[in-house]
Amino acid sequence: MVEVRLENLKKYFDNGKVKAVDGINLTIKDGEFLVLLGPSGCGKTTTLRMISGLDTPTEGKIWFGDRDVTYLAPKDRNISMVFQSYAVWPHMKVYDNIAFPLKIKKYSEAEIKERVKWAAELLQIGELLDRYPAQLSGGQRQRVAVARAIVVEPEVLLMDEPLSNLDAKLRVAMRAEIKKLQEKLKVTTVYVTHDQVEAMTMGDRIAVMKDGKVLQIGPPTEVYLKPRSVFVATFIGAPEMNLLEVSIKENERGIILEGEGFEITLPEDLGELVRDHVDKTVLMGIRPEHMTVEGVSTLEHVKRMSMMDSIVDFIEALGTDTIVHAKIGGKIIKVKLPGHIPVPVGQKIKIVIDLDNIHIFDKNTKKALI
Ligand code: ATP
Repeated sequence: MVEVRLENLKKYFDNGKVKAVDGINLTIKDGEFLVLLGPSGCGKTTTLRMISGLDTPTEGKIWFGDRDVTYLAPKDRNISMVFQSYAVWPHMKVYDNIAFPLKIKKYSEAEIKERVKWAAELLQIGELLDRYPAQLSGGQRQRVAVARAIVVEPEVLLMDEPLSNLDAKLRVAMRAEIKKLQEKLKVTTVYVTHDQVEAMTMGDRIAVMKDGKVLQIGPPTEVYLKPRSVFVATFIGAPEMNLLEVSIKENERGIILEGEGFEITLPEDLGELVRDHVDKTVLMGIRPEHMTVEGVSTLEHVKRMSMMDSIVDFIEALGTDTIVHAKIGGKIIKVKLPGHIPVPVGQKIKIVIDLDNIHIFDKNTKKALI
């Protein structure tokens, strides 16, 4: 196990026209499960490929502990990779697929046998060692790929969207399994995904990337509760955070957020945080799950709240949740209610907002003010 440090890491393509990775500074702690999360093209895979040695940085350094590995070949780094496409060799039986990296490293036959057995049991594919990949399901093939990756007990495990070829149900099951496996092995892991649920449920920390840069890094709850920008706020969470344009005003009641068709008086401590922005237009963010509908459902543990009048525009009944699309002024916002709640379309409702979970963003920089 080892700490991985990325120092001002850059990768440019096409003579600098494409800045795939644009100055990443990041320390992945010894034994940590770090998720690189971001939309397609933000540089996740390129970052992973540089950590693996498949790509060489344009600039910057990569450290494994106190070892500078920036220009080392993949085979000299003690890493393993798992890809989206299972990349198991079709002409080799499961046993030989898993044994392959051990053979390359010239382990003895006895040791190979023992280690393959160990890895296969961990991944619950002990019964499949005599089969060819064509005789396996997608999920089983991915287990083989993971077994082959861990069999050498790498210092660093790199995974690039390993679950995206699996169906939804299997993906959820494998998510938990990979997480448990990583906790058991305590191997430093970098996991690439564009799926925010995967990131939230698997990562010890999440690094949210955009345009080749890391915008925010932190434990899942921190990134969810304290997003530092509109981008992070809306990328994490589903349905995504509601954003409403409001003016910050001050009157005898204190600091007010004035929006189209509603007004919210901020508690004194929150008001103080945005006092410098009085008379400015900002973006107020509130997650669908941090609101409820008066008389229909309650928000537990809410200490401070405010109301907004609105009209039900549309209902999404998901079974486990009900998403109410509510019209306020000219805008539609989404409110997530637990359970099946048949609120009639066209009905006037009062939306209750948890004031301790509102976010205020600068309208121009899109950075969080509170
Ligand atoms: P995805 O989730 O779609 O895999 P990603 O976040 O992993 O996306 P990368 O694959 O790292 O993104 O790509 C980052 C940017 O670099 C993209 O604009 C991509 O087109 C570009 N890029 C990647 N590899 C090359 C290459 N070999 N030559 C030129 N441009 C490249």
